Amino acid sequence: MKPPPFDYVAAADLDEALEALADTSLEARPLAGGQSLVPMLNFRLAAPERLVDLNGVEELSGVEETEDGGLLLGAMTRHSTLERDSFIARRIPLLAEAARFIAHPQIRSRGTVGGSVAHADPAAELPAVLLTLGARVRIARRSRNGESGARVERTLDLGDFFLGPFYSALDPDELLTAIDVPPSPPGEGTAFDEVARRRGDYALAGVAARVRLDSRGVCDEAAISLVNGGSTPCLMKEAAQTLVGEKPTPEAIEAAAAACAETSDPAADMHATEEYRRHLIRVLTTRVVSHAADRART
Ligand SMILES: Cc1cc2nc3c(=O)[nH]c(=O)nc-3n(C[C@H](O)[C@H](O)[C@H](O)COP(=O)(O)OP(=O)(O)OC[C@H]3O[C@@H](n4cnc5c(N)ncnc54)[C@H](O)[C@@H]3O)c2cc1C
Repeated sequence: MKPPPFDYVAAADLDEALEALADTSLEARPLAGGQSLVPMLNFRLAAPERLVDLNGVEELSGVEETEDGGLLLGAMTRHSTLERDSFIARRIPLLAEAARFIAHPQIRSRGTVGGSVAHADPAAELPAVLLTLGARVRIARRSRNGESGARVERTLDLGDFFLGPFYSALDPDELLTAIDVPPSPPGEGTAFDEVARRRGDYALAGVAARVRLDSRGVCDEAAISLVNGGSTPCLMKEAAQTLVGEKPTPEAIEAAAAACAETSDPAADMHATEEYRRHLIRVLTTRVVSHAADRART
């Protein structure tokens, strides 16, 4: 099918993009890599009256090192940049490790980190990975009536961003501008793995983990999040907490994996039952937490 007709604005800079989104007389949507939005238009699952193309907005691209040694990823950073950029891979290796699992090279060369997060798909890799990393999102919009200044900006913990399947805390006139990823401290290890029916398909289930060990090898911080483990990209706080204060022995990891599977809420569909997804979550959690702990030790 072809998309329904729409007005097209190729924004030249951030102010122009925010201006085009601020006009509430018609439904406008940002267009980033188009890898989710264009299929949605073609299937008529979305019918915005205006598309605001972000591809010419330089302020939304680029990766910068922050003062604390973390990374600021511009919303238009492509999946392929996360996969291939050696600076990003050295600083936050989990991003490169997980980006390789997203779809196919053609899609990774267009799809963006901002688009993936804004789309809020529980089956997507990057939202889960960024939750594990404790990322924050930067959001901007044009001032509304009575507000001072041209622009209003806010920052949100990613944990407060996902409100439901394909539903986030973004208002229709807001743009996700960048993602802050905290630095990876010494003693920290991360890992990602997933199971898909074919290479490049959306995962049946996936798990990202981050483990920090102190000088005695005891875990003092842990985070685990799931791809396709619930109705939103989800951080499994209780399961991760079972590791804290423990050495990551096989028994401790198995207990965390069991807690993760038990407290997850995967859906059943034509590809997998809920039970099979829970089984995958348990196996993958055991695998990635072990891997993250090995990396933390070395
Ligand atoms: C065949 C196929 C397989 C795929 N497989 C996977 C997969 O395995 N894993 C995976 O994670 N993804 C997969 N994808 C989706 C792909 O990763 C997309 O790139 C991603 O979901 C959306 O990024 P985008 O830049 O293309 O966003 P777009 O498609 O341009 O936009 C997606 C949504 O986000 C909004 N949006 C975009 N940017 C912003 C912004 N800066 N601020 C506010 N709102 C914004 C848009 O308005 C739209 O609603 C697949 C896509 C295809 C076509």
